[in-house]
Amino acid sequence: MGVNVFKNEPFSDFSQPERKQQMEAALELVASQLGRDYDLFIDGKRISTEGKSVSINPSNKDQVIGRVAKADQSQAEDAMQAALSAFAWWKNVPAKERARVLLRASAIMRRRKDEFSAWLVYEAGKNWGEADADTAEAIDFLEFYAREMVRLSEDQNLTRLEGEDNELSYIPLGVGIVIPPWNFPLAIMAGMTAAAIVAGNTVVLKPATPTPVIAAKFVELLEEAGLPAGVVNYVPGSGAVIGDYLVDHPKTRFISFTGSKEVGIRIYERAAKVHPGQIWLKRVIAEMGGKDALVVDKGVDVKEAAQAIVTSAFGFSGQKCSACSRAILHEEIYDDVLAEVVELTKKLTVGQAHEYGVSLGPVVDESAYNNILNYIEIGKGEGRLMVGGEKAEGNGFFIQPTVIADIDRNARIAQEEIFGPVLAVIKAKDFDDALAIANGTEFGLTGGVFSNDRFNLAKAREQFHVGNLYFNRKITGALVGVQPFGGFNMSGTDSKAGGYDYLLQFTQAKLVVERY
Ligand code: NAP
Repeated sequence: MGVNVFKNEPFSDFSQPERKQQMEAALELVASQLGRDYDLFIDGKRISTEGKSVSINPSNKDQVIGRVAKADQSQAEDAMQAALSAFAWWKNVPAKERARVLLRASAIMRRRKDEFSAWLVYEAGKNWGEADADTAEAIDFLEFYAREMVRLSEDQNLTRLEGEDNELSYIPLGVGIVIPPWNFPLAIMAGMTAAAIVAGNTVVLKPATPTPVIAAKFVELLEEAGLPAGVVNYVPGSGAVIGDYLVDHPKTRFISFTGSKEVGIRIYERAAKVHPGQIWLKRVIAEMGGKDALVVDKGVDVKEAAQAIVTSAFGFSGQKCSACSRAILHEEIYDDVLAEVVELTKKLTVGQAHEYGVSLGPVVDESAYNNILNYIEIGKGEGRLMVGGEKAEGNGFFIQPTVIADIDRNARIAQEEIFGPVLAVIKAKDFDDALAIANGTEFGLTGGVFSNDRFNLAKAREQFHVGNLYFNRKITGALVGVQPFGGFNMSGTDSKAGGYDYLLQFTQAKLVVERY
């Protein structure tokens, strides 16, 4: 199989006039396709439903992105049965052939990269740069997991024993339920799905309710890439209505979930129950929330540290699990870094995501909008509002980037995941105190340290208890293959998406011995 070494998909530079024009053309193309209907896709057949959910543009509440069929439990059951039938033969398709489907899908997505990004702009409210990064990551996942499966299907290294042939192979698990979040509605959704199917499993894919159209577009692309019927079954619907049903199903072999702590815990608990007819323990891969911190030591370049904080806090309006929601500053540089953070935050613009150059688009939907504004009010009572603190203008879910200083380490906005453009700034007595504050939450996803002191960096390397730790840079934007991603404690099962161990979670190892 002629696959060369994996390389990350480059990000687009929209300051180049030609790239800008191409993106504008893609936005126009997608705008002309808004408002269409999307069906369920089960066993290769499109199935419409009476009830539909309406996906809207968070930048413009009156604009309909698509009307999407809503599966009930009986259709979720049909999807399960289709996935079960397909598993009977898909598991025997050689790994290289399964990998080829992903590689073809990635080639198609690369050709239509701006178009996919434009869907992300309209449906998720991502600005151009964030949308482009999401699409690039989706391409990376397809390419990376394709290669990884080929590697895993090769002969595995075992210690030789005279007179015997010992062989270990990674075989698939069965039917998996894939439940992605809305915040990387292309990359994470595509990555979780691609990993499961390339390993030989079949899938029931339940997209997040705010972003079902982008998932439908991906399923169309898989079909175009030659994925056979029944391998991926697309069943949009409410998590509460069909989520529990699919998680509880005795034929569900594994659940691959990315989302909030609350839903992750619910799935983990329910999956532990063995139902009549179930002959395995379900495997749960659950990647959950964060309360990520950037620690700034004394003696650093204040401007650089402040820029990293602002980029990490407000990219995609803070709606990244890796976003910096706590800046923990050494007391000696507290005032200087805070002042610079405030200055940089004031320069950010909030507006409709499709407008070129907007720093922050909207937050995803009304419930997120109300929840974040509520946290801002809580924060105003817990600290000193420095900038923002209000909704922003427009017919969408716009919120000003908000910085609240002098926050106690145990305050609610220092402990609870807000998932919006809200930064809590906390003062630390010294570096040890800063690390203690950073570790003082139930989460452990990303974290960062700005320091020029090698001793302190070494201390953080050992003691800062997070899955992804970054020194002297922003804490968002993990790259597939370069920075495998996943967190500790209540941030999840640390599955390390985009890493060399990831696919193992979608397989079981079988050992066969033949005595000669
Ligand atoms: P969410 O509310 O937990 O939803 C995630 C998914 O779970 C959605 O598809 C949702 O469907 C579904 N769901 C809801 N109830 C369910 C149930 N009872 N059974 C099965 N599925 C159910 O999270 P979100 O708001 O989409 O995403 C934001 C969260 O994801 C944040 O906490 C963020 O930190 C986390 N996240 C973590 C990572 C990571 O790698 N650690 C990456 C990205 C995001 P509905 O939409 O229909 O409710």
